[in-house]
Amino acid sequence: MDVFRVVKDNVTARQVAEHYGMKVGRNGMVCCPFHDDKHPSMKIDKRYYCFGCGEKGDAIEFVGKYFGTTSKDAAMKIADDFGLDYKIEKYKPPQEPLRPKKSLEQEFREAQDYCFKGLSDYLHLLKEWKIKYAPKSMDEEWHPLFCEALDNIDQTEYLLDTLLNGDVRDRAFLVQNQGKKVKSIHERIREFNNSREKSITRGSGREQSTYERG
Ligand SMILES: [Zn+2]
Repeated sequence: MDVFRVVKDNVTARQVAEHYGMKVGRNGMVCCPFHDDKHPSMKIDKRYYCFGCGEKGDAIEFVGKYFGTTSKDAAMKIADDFGLDYKIEKYKPPQEPLRPKKSLEQEFREAQDYCFKGLSDYLHLLKEWKIKYAPKSMDEEWHPLFCEALDNIDQTEYLLDTLLNGDVRDRAFLVQNQGKKVKSIHERIREFNNSREKSITRGSGREQSTYERG
């Protein structure tokens, strides 16, 4: 709620004058604090008016002038000093209870991304190997990468499809239960990339592309 409204509705100039130590007579007259006033020449009630120097205003203007503050600070000072609760509607409870929930969501999303990245990279490699290392003749011994492709393409495709199209329960189940497998897939990809890099830097066993081959 607006602090000005709260103060204006609840506190008079006379109340603040008395609160800050000025003596107000029964006739509502007080010595003016804004000029050198020997005999009370300020009439003070809800508002105030000085017959000596002409100062006038309400409780907030009185306090602002008296303490030399802005009217906003004056209003807040009055509210605090008179125990007026203007902060209640502005007060927002700390948002901490939401945080753990959010970080769990975040955790799940990251785990899911990790699975997705591993599975899709692996599937990409498997499909490449399946073509690249396919045996060219009946009696040729099958290349281990070709075998690996045949062994794993279907399952990898299935898991990836679940991640992409499954409902949240399926995905959560996959992320939770295939974590080890996905980790080993990431390792497998890293291992394959390392061996490829080595063979490239060594310059000897550079991998042939399907184009070069054909
Ligand atoms: Zn005065």
